[in-house]
Amino acid sequence: VKDAFATNWISPAGPFLQQFEEKLAAYCGTSAAAAIHSGTAGIHLALRLLKVQADDVVLCQSFTFVGSCNPIIYEKARSVFIDSEPETWNMCPKALEQAIDDCLAKGKKPKAIIVVHLYGMPAKMEAIAALAKHYDIPIIEDAAEALGSSIDGKPCGSFGQMGVLSFNGNKIITTGGGGALLSNTSEWVEEARFLATQAKGPAPHYQHSTVGYNYRLSNVAAAIGLGQLEVLKDRIAARRANHEFYRTLLAGIPGVHFLDEPEGYFSNRWLS
Ligand SMILES: *Cc1c(COP(=O)(O)O)cnc(C)c1O
Repeated sequence: VKDAFATNWISPAGPFLQQFEEKLAAYCGTSAAAAIHSGTAGIHLALRLLKVQADDVVLCQSFTFVGSCNPIIYEKARSVFIDSEPETWNMCPKALEQAIDDCLAKGKKPKAIIVVHLYGMPAKMEAIAALAKHYDIPIIEDAAEALGSSIDGKPCGSFGQMGVLSFNGNKIITTGGGGALLSNTSEWVEEARFLATQAKGPAPHYQHSTVGYNYRLSNVAAAIGLGQLEVLKDRIAARRANHEFYRTLLAGIPGVHFLDEPEGYFSNRWLS
């Protein structure tokens, strides 16, 4: 952060942005990442990249934070909410298939599936990805709460066509407000950076041929993010230790239950 000030890169451009993006992509195992203002902005950009338009149907997990679904409304699309299953509290694959069939029967193929790893617990991505593939519907993975979580070692944020992270003040690491869009399709990430900088074209003058947003993260916030990535491991260990503490403390109290990690699942235990 001192370096950002010393070199006067106090703007939504600068060397720490690229470094932060490279480290995020490497950590999450995707080809690229775009550093942006918020997780909500990430979901919004993902919908734009998938060309979601007015009256399109977007399937969204019902049990989540409002940031997952507000961007559906920004684009005047229709949200169809999918209930959760009891094992991970995330999107139920059976309910998802029913909703897809129902939409298809009404002649309205859903444009995207927004699945969430709530509280850091990975959703049942194997079943959900298989359905998405079968029905040819892209997945936007809301991993805002799940940086550091994984299934069989594969990081959350890398399962969908696009993944979204949040660095809001309450998340496992923070940039004082921030987010990222992850993808194995590098062109999408490039397009996200373009849309996030007011869709300013490469011309020497101010050329804006499409509608963009002021969504880019600042170089100072990216510097904070680089520092935060160094302590991510400690934060996860601390949250997991808290979880074990509650488990021991509250064991045997009727009505108190804890979310177990299914075989191969690793939760950052962001919230217990
Ligand atoms: C925090 C959060 C968001 C939104 O992220 P912001 O950076 O606050 O915009 C979206 N989805 C979930 C599940 C979240 O927890």
